Amino acid sequence: MRPPILDPLFAPVSTLPGIGPKIAKLVSGLVGGQPDRDATVSDLLFHIPHNLIDRRHQPGIAYSESGDIVTLDVTIGRHQAPPRNSKAPYKIPAHDETGEISFVFFHPRRDWLEKTFPEGERRIVSGKVEWFNDRPQMVHPDYSLKPEEAAEMPSIEPVYPLTAGLASKTLQKAMRAALERVPNLPEWLNDAHLRQTGWPDFRDALQTLHMPKERQDMEPQSIYMQRLAYDELLASQLALAMVRANMRLLGGTARKPDGALQQSVIDALPFHLTDSQSNAIREINEDLAEPTRMLRLLQGDVGSGKTVVALAALAQVIETGAQGGLMAPTEILARQHYASMTPLCEKAGIRLALMTGKDSQKQRRLLQERLDAGEVDLVVGTHALFQGSVSFKNLGMVVVDEQHRFGVHQRLALSGKGQGVDVLVMTATPIPRTLVLTCFGDMDVSRLTEKPAGRKPIRTVSVSLDRLDEIISRVGAAISEGQKVYWVCPLVEESEKIDLAAVEDRHRVLEHALRQRISLVHGRMGADEKDSAMSAFKNGETKVLVATTVIEVGVDVPDATIIVIEHAERFGLAQLHQLRGRVGRGDKPSSCVLLYKGPLGETAGARLNIMRETNDGFLIAEEDLKLRGGGEILGTRQSGTPGFRIARADEHADLMEVARDDSRLILEMDPELKSERGVALRCLLYLFGRDAAIRLLRAG
Ligand code: ADP
Ligand code: MG
Repeated sequence: MRPPILDPLFAPVSTLPGIGPKIAKLVSGLVGGQPDRDATVSDLLFHIPHNLIDRRHQPGIAYSESGDIVTLDVTIGRHQAPPRNSKAPYKIPAHDETGEISFVFFHPRRDWLEKTFPEGERRIVSGKVEWFNDRPQMVHPDYSLKPEEAAEMPSIEPVYPLTAGLASKTLQKAMRAALERVPNLPEWLNDAHLRQTGWPDFRDALQTLHMPKERQDMEPQSIYMQRLAYDELLASQLALAMVRANMRLLGGTARKPDGALQQSVIDALPFHLTDSQSNAIREINEDLAEPTRMLRLLQGDVGSGKTVVALAALAQVIETGAQGGLMAPTEILARQHYASMTPLCEKAGIRLALMTGKDSQKQRRLLQERLDAGEVDLVVGTHALFQGSVSFKNLGMVVVDEQHRFGVHQRLALSGKGQGVDVLVMTATPIPRTLVLTCFGDMDVSRLTEKPAGRKPIRTVSVSLDRLDEIISRVGAAISEGQKVYWVCPLVEESEKIDLAAVEDRHRVLEHALRQRISLVHGRMGADEKDSAMSAFKNGETKVLVATTVIEVGVDVPDATIIVIEHAERFGLAQLHQLRGRVGRGDKPSSCVLLYKGPLGETAGARLNIMRETNDGFLIAEEDLKLRGGGEILGTRQSGTPGFRIARADEHADLMEVARDDSRLILEMDPELKSERGVALRCLLYLFGRDAAIRLLRAG
């Protein structure tokens, strides 16, 4: 049960002054309450201001800069009221010793204006100054107070992210009331840590962030932000560690076959494993031999050879008589895995099946019968695999490819289809360590750090679009030497038609300039059309493929050696890296031409530089994180780090590591959270919505 001390914070926002049912809905949408109920006071409190207005700024009229919010001490002049039916604004001139300004009002309420800005009197007026034709004006000032009332104006005002229909004054008022409800909570951080960092307590930190005294108070590295970010990270790390401890406790199976099946898969490969691959397989075998469940993340850049590692791992489990499942994010990828695994499985004697959403009812029924009878050892499929109707005779291991596209729920749904199912998660998008921790918690990680032998590095250059002709003639020279070229044009969703025209245009221009047939692939084409264009390029009938980013995933033409990416400045780093990964797959040196349209913005310039400097996907992902913040790497649009309200993967990476170690230590010393600190930590878990983990304690 929730500790009663938290009750005031879990009351709905509609209990706050000024928040009726309608406003409560708006507020809930803004601060992220649950879909079926109003946001709580605590939800509101974690809605931290993103800016502040400093009304202490009093430069005088003449020295006020356009766009600044200033406070002026002025004498009000004669009102310039427009005729009654005119749409013209109502203007009130005023002056101080430095100059003159106009206060401007649309749809004026005249009697109110006469009272608030009485002619000839002194007023303290605050608002945003704008200069027009060398004259300053202030449209709808925020405050106009008598000099003796000036103290009523807050000198520093927080500015909150808002939503349409919600006035900032309403939110500020509710927030002040919410802050008063924050109780003195028991401290969940240990004394030494607090002394060492100089952090304030939770309530202090929260109060300061909502009522900052200085701009620095709100910066990610201020002690107030650090304190709250750490609290949030600790809650998340602690919950993940509890879930993990619980999964382990639920028991796995010690799988210690003699490894003959795994060996025969490896022997069937037409190449030698890289050291990274061998290491990963060894780490997995060790996990499997333990009586606890495996939870391991296999990270490897595009083309590093994760599939083989997965198959070897599955073979180890299959040899013990259990079944395996491999889940891919798309049907194309599922089919690709199925096709590449078929010959290996045949040689090793593993009975392989494919399951996708396109299967007929009859196919599905037959497959289900074989799964139930244990006549299938390994099934490769899409999310169709974890539908409720699918069952296994004895599921022992699940491999999930491209994990970040699946939610935790789906992963749990699949691993729930067997007893103590071991889980291996593979990701091709290199997720930086900091994000691994946020999203997966304390998972074990194996990394494939090297590419298979014989791969040549890719030379990357960036060239201005002004030099298009030069690039086209170089492409011409390359294809006359027998090379193959991808030419990628960007697709911006909002203007698909224009982009389509651009791709078709580029196709025409290149056919004309190079005097030969060129393949074209874009998203609007039918599957057959696409296939035939692709295969013409693959088998060499055409030497150039003009494409939109549809080629990003799943295309394999090993003898393509050049990729030109047009308008490279419009692509994100991760996408550029994925695209570049289409070349450099054979034994010939390859190159990547980033064709940009100048002038380049700062971020775009930085991206192209990083691309030129490195081929290392992990490094690129880390840089990407710095440039964009965590959210976008995982494909979510909101800014900030997914699942977090305060902590940010880019700014608080160091805190994440500390929180992880801290939570480990906590569970080692007090696995039931029963000590004094443990009880305080339960409060923390509730506060940040991580209390589901507490239920596991009770179950265990
Ligand atoms: P990814 O890690 O991107 O999923 P894949 O598993 O699809 O990579 O492997 C990419 C290609 O490299 C495949 O054609 C695979 O057969 C090949 N490959 C994997 N391991 C090796 C190796 N050790 N030596 C040579 N080629 C390999
Ligand atoms: Mg793969």
